[in-house]
Amino acid sequence: MSADAPLAERLATVDAGIADAARAAGRDPGELTRIVVTKFHPASLVRELAALGVRDVGENRHQEAQAKAAETADLELSWHFVGQLQSNKARAVRRYARAIHSVDRDSLVDALAGPDHDPVDVFLEIDLSGQPGRGGADPADAERLAERVLGTAGIRLVGVMAVAPLGEEPRAAFARLRALSERVRSLAPDADRISAGMSGDYAEAILEGATHLRIGTAITGKRPDRG
Ligand SMILES: *Cc1c(COP(=O)(O)O)cnc(C)c1O
Repeated sequence: MSADAPLAERLATVDAGIADAARAAGRDPGELTRIVVTKFHPASLVRELAALGVRDVGENRHQEAQAKAAETADLELSWHFVGQLQSNKARAVRRYARAIHSVDRDSLVDALAGPDHDPVDVFLEIDLSGQPGRGGADPADAERLAERVLGTAGIRLVGVMAVAPLGEEPRAAFARLRALSERVRSLAPDADRISAGMSGDYAEAILEGATHLRIGTAITGKRPDRG
């Protein structure tokens, strides 16, 4: 698919690819949530996506996400925060995000605490690379961190999230995430979601149980230059 194919065509192509991968995995495509990651693109693109039926959108920087959520508030979209999050921005992100996919440390869990009547969904981000620094909790720490989320008001543990590391076959990495998801579910049976799979590896993620796919460039086209 060429980079300038119209948006509707790219969206349809990805959705067909998702459906194919689901069938190959013996899964129902209807149980998968496709999040379109719109980072670096203007709010006008979010509006075009919404007109094509997209409901779930993702962003990785707070200021950009907050502005776009405000500009498109009339569309009642579900915003997913997928990027590294500083604790001092956590409360602000809660206000517009339906889900935060990148909870990876105690200080962030604590900063996200909020009113019980208005919970935000959280995924524990797991580092699958074994090279700390780019975000994500050590897999060995996941169950302890899950317990901390379970003990914190106003946040709901819904599952685990990861990015496939460079230099490894993505399916092998996603298989580790799936095993970890099972451990977390033994503590929190409802935390059964797996946020995994991007433009280049969503089929492998679906084969390993992903429920939430975070897809950017394959749908939006090349990201505009940030200069
Ligand atoms: C940008 C981003 C994506 C989407 O990446 P593409 O390769 O463009 O599909 C998914 N997850 C996270 C955390 C991202 O930052």
